[in-house]
Amino acid sequence: MSNDSIHTQASCADDFDPDTLSAEDAEHRIDALIRPVSGCEKVAVRSALNRTLTEDVYSTVNVPAHTNSAMDGYAIRSSDIPADDSTTTLTVIGTAWAGRPFHGSAQGNQCIRIMTGAKIPEGTDTVIMQEQVECTDNTIRIGPGHTQGQNVRRAGEDLGIGEVAVPAGKKISPAELGLFASLGIAEVKIARRLRVSFFSTGDELRSIGETLAEGEIYDSNRYTLHGMLARLHVESLDMGVIADKRDTISEAFQNAASMADVVITTGGVSVGEADFVREILAETGSVDFWKLAIKPGRPLAFGTVNDALFFGLPGNPVAVMVTFYEFVQPALRRMMGQGDVRPARFKVPCRSRLRKRPGRMEFQRGHLKLEDDGNLSVSRTGAQGSGMLSSMSTANCFIILPTASGSVEPGDTVYVEPFEGLV
Ligand code: AMP
Ligand code: MG
Repeated sequence: MSNDSIHTQASCADDFDPDTLSAEDAEHRIDALIRPVSGCEKVAVRSALNRTLTEDVYSTVNVPAHTNSAMDGYAIRSSDIPADDSTTTLTVIGTAWAGRPFHGSAQGNQCIRIMTGAKIPEGTDTVIMQEQVECTDNTIRIGPGHTQGQNVRRAGEDLGIGEVAVPAGKKISPAELGLFASLGIAEVKIARRLRVSFFSTGDELRSIGETLAEGEIYDSNRYTLHGMLARLHVESLDMGVIADKRDTISEAFQNAASMADVVITTGGVSVGEADFVREILAETGSVDFWKLAIKPGRPLAFGTVNDALFFGLPGNPVAVMVTFYEFVQPALRRMMGQGDVRPARFKVPCRSRLRKRPGRMEFQRGHLKLEDDGNLSVSRTGAQGSGMLSSMSTANCFIILPTASGSVEPGDTVYVEPFEGLV
């Protein structure tokens, strides 16, 4: 018996397989092959939502443009703030509106009625909220306890002229649309849309609308992939179902690679007799790795076909989602030029008993919940079979169990990755 077969036997007992790559090593190997796509387009601000900014956007103005009031109230000179235990009476000499400044100047014991957003009048530097004054005719009385500069928004305090308002690589969210608008910017440069082609492999797969013969199932992976790709705002090219035939798959590889920056397939990547994906990847391109120490998703072929990156995901529907979120999504985001692409992880107590053997990193499906005491906890979402999409549908997070860890007892702390943080 060779050393290899000894190792293989050991893997049955403890889930350890010396030929597999850890999730961390796989991430590094993927990162090493990634080049951000070249090419950008200039679009109107609204059309830039969810896309990636390719150049720093500088502020050409101060935001806010002028020092203004943060409250409805009275603009006063700070030298008129009364000392402890006393009050001061000030004369109201006019009104400053947002967009309609007061053009005079306040002298000692004078103040100006002011609205939120109105320019701070000359001579004043402090705003007293209207709820904090006693008002009679054209005078107000204020007490102690105010500080110089309170309720005043300084010109440029949000952004100063020449500062980077939004850096290149930022995924544009509603906040950035507003920021561009506040700078008067009408168009921005964004990365061209990434093109991703995908197909399912499997003789047993039928598309919706077709009748199922004995042993056949509907292809669900192309639907989850459609959804996950749509949320990344890439151009996705659905190439349908490809039968488990070497020639057909080989042709589909070439076709898919000629049309896209990234090719994704599902199924046929394991060691069954109808699993051709890895072999054909080796023939038509190159295989970087194909086995990972994770569960679900042990078989995952990564490599290149011509100029396209290739991800051969497993066939099991949950494994497709896990491997997409953990490996494909960060890669696509990096290709779009985005920084900070890893989903957020944090630790919470687990309410369920989770069975696990050391040797593989596991991505179980969990439900994060806010307890009555204000702390978060997580429980698992029922049966965890890698074909059971319902466990994904009822989950709102992954529970991530590290390679070396064994089973988890209720009350133990585990890492979670909320789904909302994934896109
Ligand atoms: P495979 O890796 O091709 O052996 O597939 C593993 C399991 O996933 C098998 O039970 C397949 O029937 C199932 N499967 C493969 N592709 C799909 C798909 N596109 N939709 C639903 N189930 C699939
Ligand atoms: Mg198959």
